[in-house]
Amino acid sequence: MDRLVRQTLSYLISILFAVVFLLAIIHPTLAASQQDVNTARQWGYEGVTDPSHWAALEADFALCSTGQSQSPINLRSEAAIAHNETLNIDYHPSPFNAVNTGRTLQMNYASGSQISLDNENYKLVQFHFHAPSEHLIESKTSEMELHLVHKNANNQLAVIGVMIEPGSPNETLEELWDHIPTVGTKQSLDLPVDASRLLPDDLSFYHYQGSLTTPPCSESVNWVVMKHPIQASSPQIETFKSYFHTNARPLQALHDRAVQFSQ
Ligand SMILES: [Zn+2]
Repeated sequence: MDRLVRQTLSYLISILFAVVFLLAIIHPTLAASQQDVNTARQWGYEGVTDPSHWAALEADFALCSTGQSQSPINLRSEAAIAHNETLNIDYHPSPFNAVNTGRTLQMNYASGSQISLDNENYKLVQFHFHAPSEHLIESKTSEMELHLVHKNANNQLAVIGVMIEPGSPNETLEELWDHIPTVGTKQSLDLPVDASRLLPDDLSFYHYQGSLTTPPCSESVNWVVMKHPIQASSPQIETFKSYFHTNARPLQALHDRAVQFSQ
């Protein structure tokens, strides 16, 4: 009788361990930690992880090579459709976190700033920089490109691209460059920075449907790229490049997409 009880107990304990093991596999916190690992996945701009290898690095990076609506592209007024779309920009000064991702300097913006593009509202969530520029304006590369990333209520993205050309020193960039954290760290800044000071006076823009310019190269990003650049001094541009050597994805094919131009 004792032996039967012991056998039954050990049988039940085995089942319990199996159930706990299965739960651990599908448990959401475990899935979340898996995701954290994923965000640290290796991809880059040079060598064996450069843009030509992105699609082969991870299964969910496939769009980087198979996508038909990829970014960046060459934006040409001659080939664009004139279209008077409405873009309203409502940015306010905000304290923010500066993050050195190792691939760029990213400024996470506090809530309260937004744009409206064709009557759809998108909140500004962060901005970051590329050198050289990713998009080309009239077949011309710029020294740098600023990306202001916005999200709507359905988590769809609208990104404003602004070219940065050598010229007068830029006070806003000076403040940001003074606080570039070391790789992988985040720094909260007390001084509020106004993203509207990083926009050109003339807000003529190209608009097209594209993608993230970094893995996983997800599509359906509303791209708004300003035709006119802002300026930064050559030493300011060189300072950024000394931290982030080169972080621009090469041009992608336009395929059958239309580009609109509004002024
Ligand atoms: Zn970007």
